[in-house]
Amino acid sequence: MAQLSPALKQATPVLAQRGEGVYLYDEAGRRHLDFTAGIGVTGTGHCHPRVVEAAQRQVGTLIHGQYTTVMHRPLLDLTERLGEVLPEGVDSLFYMNSGSEAVEASVRLARHVTGRPNIVVFHGGFHGRTMGAAALTTAGTKFRAGIGPLMPGAVVAPFPQAYRYGWSEEEATRFALRELDYVLATTGPVQDTAAFLVEPVLGEGGYIPAPDAFLQGVRERADRHGILLIVDEVQTGFGRTGRFWGHDHAGIVPDVVITAKGLASGFPLSAIAAPAALMEQAWPGSQGGTYGGNAVACAAALATLDVIQDERLVENSAEMGARLHEGLRKVAADHPEVGDVRGLGLMQASEFTAPDGEPDAGTAQRAHRAATELGLLLLTCGAAGNVVRMIPPLIVDGAQIDEALTLWSEAVTSAC
Ligand code: PMP
Repeated sequence: MAQLSPALKQATPVLAQRGEGVYLYDEAGRRHLDFTAGIGVTGTGHCHPRVVEAAQRQVGTLIHGQYTTVMHRPLLDLTERLGEVLPEGVDSLFYMNSGSEAVEASVRLARHVTGRPNIVVFHGGFHGRTMGAAALTTAGTKFRAGIGPLMPGAVVAPFPQAYRYGWSEEEATRFALRELDYVLATTGPVQDTAAFLVEPVLGEGGYIPAPDAFLQGVRERADRHGILLIVDEVQTGFGRTGRFWGHDHAGIVPDVVITAKGLASGFPLSAIAAPAALMEQAWPGSQGGTYGGNAVACAAALATLDVIQDERLVENSAEMGARLHEGLRKVAADHPEVGDVRGLGLMQASEFTAPDGEPDAGTAQRAHRAATELGLLLLTCGAAGNVVRMIPPLIVDGAQIDEALTLWSEAVTSAC
């Protein structure tokens, strides 16, 4: 009898049978408040009627219009629509299926355009599990250990992790930018560097927003040295942080935007966007794949954009995110085990710290488990697994935020 590989590690024991809005229902009919959103994917909630309708219609029309063979209308329409939400001029798109694939596509593009091999990544970043993306991932050894040799050309610079260093954001930013200059002057020469690759909020690495001044400083260095700035918006894009893109907070314009997760409400779809002048330098045929830009996924993405716009989900993300943040701070105020609460929009986290300042994964894991038992689904993150994150769907309302906070308070109390 066949069985699922034990290589799959799950955050909860829930056997999901059906999803509706912010709730998942298991096979026993129990309701779970889903503050994981499938790792930040179902921004429009589970099975949003408009997404369901668009996907069902497309399934009956054309499922697989293989894009290196034929073109299809949903792909053309989605490209036009994404042009409306992408930064001006960053409007030439290519599609894949997953975040990792899109990260690798952006590396291919950057290497083609610049003729340089190196990609500078920032310590704690997560960019995926495929072999190229894993080489660029420094969020934990579990993503890298035992699978080498990894792709050469990844150069690591510090990310301004203010809480970890025990510094202010200004001090951490100054340090990280100075060290970036030092890396370029020592281990990763400018003339060998194709791109900087950065998450606007460190995701798997611990939910640490990049200070605006940091992203601005990286942009300035990219301009100065002729290095491309690739922003990995796989987790932060599509309204997650309370702006459409995570980099919007810093007011910068990237050279390449990577998007996935929230793009298609759960259908596998990812994309890279760059100015046409850059894309034109990629070798024709250098990007592609069997399933990229699937017609059903594109139809779902179009409906996702409609829902985000019509239901003002970016604004809701900012408002509900602020409410969640404030509530998490109140819980933390009663529990010294929670050393830090941080996040942007509906990407919020609580970091557990022991009295000696070391990461407290034990309490974090207990709180996470207690929340699951209470019917609140959450995820952990951070290299030590001591950060509990909340990523609810962008459709979440105030009552649901308050319900989650009540359950969270109970979970933390029982864990501490
Ligand atoms: N980049 C970021 C910032 C991510 O959060 C993730 C997934 N958690 C990835 C890339 C990889 O995406 P995927 O799992 O779809 O390959």
